[in-house]
Amino acid sequence: MITVLRIGHRPQRDKRITTHVCLVARAFGADTVIVDRKDLTLQETIARVSDRWGGTFSVSFQPWRKVLSTWEGLIVHLTMYGLPLEEKISAIRTHRDILVVVGAEKVPREVYDMADSNISVTNQPHSEVAALALFLDRYFQGTQLNREFCGNLRITPSKKEKLINDVVNQQRKAKII
Ligand code: SAM
Repeated sequence: MITVLRIGHRPQRDKRITTHVCLVARAFGADTVIVDRKDLTLQETIARVSDRWGGTFSVSFQPWRKVLSTWEGLIVHLTMYGLPLEEKISAIRTHRDILVVVGAEKVPREVYDMADSNISVTNQPHSEVAALALFLDRYFQGTQLNREFCGNLRITPSKKEKLINDVVNQQRKAKII
């Protein structure tokens, strides 16, 4: 089970990027996201996605210090200051219950100390969304790309059209792009 902990979320400023953290977590194989500050709009947005597109993914809220101090599995903090992902991912993959921590602005020093591993996805500054996507891809070794979500809405891959099947309403919507 992979849980993502999103710390430093500011509902006004980080709305879009935290939504993307959640969407990437869901699409690429994580099970749940904990955000350190309550944001019901975010929770509803992701619940709507899961309702329509499938899976059991959810978003909940808890202060980060409490999550880190009570977590019983492995804690991996993604930071550009950490050790290279490609060197550490095999050892991380031996664990099943993992908390993956991603920040927003400056991450408190305590997080680095409480993590079992501080892991970098290159030592260049980029984004929590990209770092999380690459971490999940390396962890699952690409298998997450074929995961079935069994939702009401399903896309039929197409060369030129947007083909969406609505399983519940038995409708097939086709649109030329
Ligand atoms: N300057 C901030 C700091 O000192 O922690 C980082 C801000 S960055 C915009 C937001 C988040 O993206 C970080 O907390 C980290 O989780 C992730 N991130 C950015 N670059 C990364 C990298 N090269 N490797 C791993 N994670 C990265």
